Parts: sequence; structure tokens; C-alpha cells
Amino acid sequence: MTVVRTPLVVGNWKMNGAFETNRVLIEALLASLGQQTLPEIGVCPPLPYLPQIGALLAETPIGWGAQTVSEHRGGAYTGQVSASMLQDLGCRYAIVGHSERRQYCGETDEQVAAQAMAALDAGLVPIICVGESAEQKASGHTLAVIDRQLAPLLLTLAGVADEGTGVVIAYEPVWAIGTGKTPTPDGVQVVHAHIRQRLMAAGLVQTRILYGGSVKASNAETLFALPDVDGGLIGGAALDAQEFSTICTAAANCAA
Ligand code: PEP
Repeated sequence: MTVVRTPLVVGNWKMNGAFETNRVLIEALLASLGQQTLPEIGVCPPLPYLPQIGALLAETPIGWGAQTVSEHRGGAYTGQVSASMLQDLGCRYAIVGHSERRQYCGETDEQVAAQAMAALDAGLVPIICVGESAEQKASGHTLAVIDRQLAPLLLTLAGVADEGTGVVIAYEPVWAIGTGKTPTPDGVQVVHAHIRQRLMAAGLVQTRILYGGSVKASNAETLFALPDVDGGLIGGAALDAQEFSTICTAAANCAA
């Protein structure tokens, strides 16, 4: 089987945005990307803005998605949004297991695996976040934490998720998110190679692994050139059209 891992860059806007600033940002991004060769690109705005972003991106190759999704298919789950509802909104992606959801909403590894499966079942590409805290890194537990986070996911996904774009894993060290700190390139590659080995053992040979955590225009190319890095999940820099566009260009250059 030929393994094709198209680079992917996804912007996680978190809880930022308003109709007017969203429009300005998307228009500036489209102008900045122009006609250049692009990687696969997605943006994940807050839920209420998905229809607006979908309309702005409808005639473009850029996809859109949500920052979380319920593991439930429907029913009495006040405040939750199902994968099929996101599918109705034209979403291509659903981020699941972001460290902020794990931290502030108590999402567990098992719940994240169930969310990923719900997304897949509805035809969405789940972008599943894993990563260690500063304390876990300091005590030398990075790979053990990644293994623990991946375990229910690999059990759930083995054999079902390797068609086409399948699922995406995002390695996001918690201590690197929004801090301006990043691991060394060697440090990133070691973790990505470890994740790759776990994915291969589960038969997930096409699964892309993104790096996330303080990716900027200035460091994107170095990170994306690493052999097991297939693009990035971008937080703060996704709110700046020029920065995000340069990051997308870096991913396209690394694929070329
Ligand atoms: C994120 O929150 O997914 C993220 C990667 O944030 P930042 O790029 O701002 O570190």
C-alpha cells in the first residue's frame, strides 16, 4: 500500500472571534494565501461562527471544523453538540481531547476515544490531541503519558480508521501551548516517532501526526521538516492572517 500523508495545518481559534473580525481575518487569509500551492488547511472557530466561516470558505479548498464534539449521538445532553450536527454544518474536522478540554471540562482518555469514534462515524476527521504537562515532562513521563492517552483510542480505532484521511493525532505538549516555548526539534521528533510506532502497530499507517504548541511563522519550517511531523495545530498564530498563511506555506514547502 502506498502511504500518502498530505501535510495538514489547522487553526484552533479557541474562544476568540466576532462576526466582523472573523470576516476580516478570513478575507485577509485568503488574500495572503493567494494562488500558491497549499497544504490541506482547516480552521476551527467557536461553534456559533461555523455557519459564517462555512459561507466564507465555501468556494475555497479550506475546510472548517469544531473544537470539540459530543461522544453521544443525540438525546438529553444539554449544551452538547453531536457529530452529525457538525456534519450538517459542513464541517470536515472535529478537534477532540484538547488539553484545555481535558483540564477545564474533565474529559478523560476514554471519553476522548468515544468522541473520536463519534466524529469518524459521522464522516468527520477527528484531530485527537495528546501531550504531557510540564510536571510530567520534568519527571521523565512524557512517553508514558502519551501511551496512556493513546491506549483507549488505539483499541477503539484499530482497523476502522485508516481509510483516506482517517484520523489525525496532534502532539501538543501542554507546557508549550500559548507560552512561546517549544520542545527542541529532536524532542518533537522523538515523541512523534514514538506515536508513529504505536499507530503502525495498530495498523494505522496513514494517520497524520501534527505538532501543536507555540508554532509561529518563524519556527514552522524547522518543525514541519521533521520526518514524523505532518503539519501543525495552530492556536494564537491562527488569529493572524499573515502568520497563519506563512505557516501554511511552510507546510507546503516541506511536502514539496
Ligand atoms: C492550541 O491551543 O492548540 C495551540 C497549539 O496553541 P498555541 O499555538 O497558541 O500554542
